[in-house]
Amino acid sequence: MTMWGRRHEAWQTRYAVRRDWPVDGTHEFVGLRATAEEAAAFEAGDRAYWSRGPIRPTWSVVALSQREFALHAKRRGCRAPDCPVADADRSCNKQPGFLQNR
Ligand SMILES: [Zn+2]
Repeated sequence: MTMWGRRHEAWQTRYAVRRDWPVDGTHEFVGLRATAEEAAAFEAGDRAYWSRGPIRPTWSVVALSQREFALHAKRRGCRAPDCPVADADRSCNKQPGFLQNR
């Protein structure tokens, strides 16, 4: 758990749950929280919710600022490749084979 300075509240690092939809390749950020642990707790509840439905996204917890989160909320159906991703995601999905022989 790393604490960052509080100089710029809106740019402070926070954590959100990223939902990636395999059907159309879009993603969204939900459940902005102050810590990764709290975001993970939100993710658990969100998984439980979507597990009842026929379509399920893949989840990850990503670091981003409150400002990025607010701006992204306006981008419905976002497919931009440069949006925040979890480190684990980056190694297994974006670069297959990378870091595999640890
Ligand atoms: Zn995006």
